[in-house]
Amino acid sequence: MMREVLYEGKSKVVCAGEDRDSLIIRYKDTATAFNGVKQAELFGKGKLNAAISNLIYEHLQENGIKTHLIKVIDDTTSLVKKAEIIMVEVIVRNVAAGSFSKKYGIPEGTLLKNVSVEFSVKSDELGDPMINISQITAIGICTAHELTEMIEQSLRINELLCELFKKAGIRLIDFKLEFGRDLSETSDRGKIILCDEISPDSCRLWDMKSGKKLDKDRFRRDMGGVLDSYRDVLQRLTEINNN
Ligand code: UDP
Repeated sequence: MMREVLYEGKSKVVCAGEDRDSLIIRYKDTATAFNGVKQAELFGKGKLNAAISNLIYEHLQENGIKTHLIKVIDDTTSLVKKAEIIMVEVIVRNVAAGSFSKKYGIPEGTLLKNVSVEFSVKSDELGDPMINISQITAIGICTAHELTEMIEQSLRINELLCELFKKAGIRLIDFKLEFGRDLSETSDRGKIILCDEISPDSCRLWDMKSGKKLDKDRFRRDMGGVLDSYRDVLQRLTEINNN
């Protein structure tokens, strides 16, 4: 069925949902990096990311994390709760890599002494600048209470994901999360829920034995074998899910 497109982002399309409390998101095959400067169509990426993200979301939900996922519709589409996205990206790091390594001169692969949680403003126009917690509340992106809630949930999600990926022989290096305020006309209205995908596009995932990168760095750094690696991640997660 053709639905009204409400918003088209870099890697997903958002359409009207089944009622006023829901939305339908569709994963696209478009891969982007460096704030959209680098872009390519990777045939089948949408399906792989949808499947990986759905498996992860189901695991998180089973473990008490409140998320926007209502149900999976098909290979590339899911029904989600309507939420007001909080305009910060939460980045959780276990091991130094990417911009963190560059900015602070810490070699990629260095185990961090504690989990690092950082924030950046969700704005392509501004280039997603890093922002600290007092700045976030100062400009009213969210309240201090919401911030505490997001940090607590992010740390819990990190524990659950590290454990899950470990079973799949994968090291979770870092990842990005987005949260929103539940907009449904229910008693959950206003509660913080996890939104957006969790996939190899938004995580760094290294094979535990070989150290092979199984994530979007293969695209960013022109390493090739992007989809083969995403497929590998899906296969491993499916296997542990079936056992
Ligand atoms: N990330 C993301 N979207 C962003 C920025 C970062 O999904 O807009 C993810 C990225 O894939 C990585 C983690 O967050 O898993 C940390 O990214 P980093 O800050 O190192 O930035 P990058 O090196 O990707 O520019």
